[in-house]
Amino acid sequence: MIVMKFGGTSVQDANAMQRVLSIVKSRIPKKPLVVVSAMSGVTDALIHCAETSHLGREDAALERFEKEVYVPHRRVLQELIQESQLREPLMKTMEENFREVRTLFHGLSILGELTPRSLDAIASYGERFCSLILAASLLEHGIQTHWINACDFLITDDQHTKANPLMDLSLAKARETVVPVLEQNEVVVTQGFVGSNRIGQTTTLGRGGSDFSATILGALLDAEEIEIWTDVPGVMTADPRVVPEASTISELSYTEAAELSYFGAKVLHPKTIWPAVEKKIPIRILDTFHPENSGTRVLENPRINDHPVKAVTSIRNLSILTVEGRGMLGVPGVAARAFTAVAKEKVNLLMITQSSSEQNICFVIEQKAANSTIHALEDEFEIEIARHQIDTIRSQDKVVIIAVVGAGMKGTPGIAAKVFGALGHAGINVISIAQGSSEYNLSFVVHEKDGDDAVRSIHREFQL
Ligand code: ADP
Ligand code: ASP
Ligand code: MG
Repeated sequence: MIVMKFGGTSVQDANAMQRVLSIVKSRIPKKPLVVVSAMSGVTDALIHCAETSHLGREDAALERFEKEVYVPHRRVLQELIQESQLREPLMKTMEENFREVRTLFHGLSILGELTPRSLDAIASYGERFCSLILAASLLEHGIQTHWINACDFLITDDQHTKANPLMDLSLAKARETVVPVLEQNEVVVTQGFVGSNRIGQTTTLGRGGSDFSATILGALLDAEEIEIWTDVPGVMTADPRVVPEASTISELSYTEAAELSYFGAKVLHPKTIWPAVEKKIPIRILDTFHPENSGTRVLENPRINDHPVKAVTSIRNLSILTVEGRGMLGVPGVAARAFTAVAKEKVNLLMITQSSSEQNICFVIEQKAANSTIHALEDEFEIEIARHQIDTIRSQDKVVIIAVVGAGMKGTPGIAAKVFGALGHAGINVISIAQGSSEYNLSFVVHEKDGDDAVRSIHREFQL
């Protein structure tokens, strides 16, 4: 079997859905399991409406829901599904679901509270609506199709809004619910992004998480291949919105793809790669709007190409925190304690640097976590601050990490010189630098205003 995942723009309207239909049709002999995202913009709208409702503005939420969720789905449904035996029951199911969401908004406005758990319950409806329409549409085209609720087999931990799969439990469930359907040669349609915890509460895998759902399912079901269908020709040498001349990379190793997604290539959710690695399942990134193109293949051993650097990416909205003090020199455990304090705040460290003089440690985190992290560090080092062993704990906001990625960088001299030479020529100041000893990735921090220029200068320098 294969897994096919379609992102938001690939299902954004009836025309796009028609394309998806014909792509799925072309894969029927391969036994596809189809994972869909919400229609473009719908998850944003649902989250926004939930936030508005809990602030007591239920009317505003309902208005936006009508315009950005209800009307677009009704339109697609009416344009796409003609047969009344399919259309009527689908309309009924959809209306019931719309009512549920409105009731949830009402609940939030009464409680005045929005927990990660209720946010997940609401955000999950985008995928549900979209997958129900797609399944009906496949049926209308005479394709034996079975809609399965992802909550019935993708079991996750309890980390609402960023849940991780519990693979053993999910496998047992998938064997009960999904495998028998595939064995009947029916196409399975399900939701990306969504799962449920052990006690059946809806969870989500984090924004953009449908890619992750696809590879989780691929790994559970031993897929032959996982296809990620999106709105670009594949993984590109840089974000095409920043570098219009970016080109498509034909092959990437799992490690390269993981580095790229982790460091901001939005085309793949950061956790997409890991489920596929263990079972060595190839992943292909393909363009829904040009299905004939071969896209990008992610596999264990890509063909060698002569570009040591394959791509440049960036992550925005970050802060760089610095813990500094002459008294830190030779004091064991400062780094460990700093990292533990950060971990307790459940904040993800994106990059760490320490100078060999040991007088400061810097790490990069999401900007929205900067304040709470500084407080956590001040608490942790209260004594050292009082003794002046640590002088400052400060943050600089509005920074970006730029990552230069490629397996061929390993052992190739001169890469760093070229990178920093290009930045120097462009007059860009580098705030901090890190390179792991795997040498797959050279990352550095610049001010947000320089981020796009930095990406473009490096892209040009390496003629990507
Ligand atoms: P989908 O809805 O299909 O999941 P996303 O919007 O999540 O699509 O991801 C695709 C987008 O990722 C592209 O439109 C592109 O702007 C952006 N992107 C960022 N970096 C890259 C890159 N290196 N290669 C391709 N696309 C990238
Ligand atoms: N619909 C979800 C989001 O917008 C998941 C996804 O698109 O992958 O984040
Ligand atoms: Mg995406």
